Amino acid sequence: MVKHIVDPEKCRGCGKCVENCSLELWVLVDREGGKDKIAQVTEEAALICHTCGMCSEGCPEKAIVIINEE
Ligand code: SF4
Ligand code: SF4
Repeated sequence: MVKHIVDPEKCRGCGKCVENCSLELWVLVDREGGKDKIAQVTEEAALICHTCGMCSEGCPEKAIVIINEE
């Protein structure tokens, strides 16, 4: 099981993680209030992410931490 944790203080909704994931496991969603976006993984991500690290390494804000609990 893989967990993806996004730091809401760091994420600025740039969408790089959405672009960088070849499995299309990231989406941008509205933050509370609807003004800004934040990255979120899809439900399948926990099962099919192959922990390539492209999302976390490509994040300019270093907002993503991946935990592999295998
Ligand atoms: S790449 Fe980083 S800052 Fe940009 S949307 Fe994804 S988590 Fe947020
Ligand atoms: S580690 Fe790779 S496969 Fe998993 S969510 Fe990030 S970019 Fe996608």
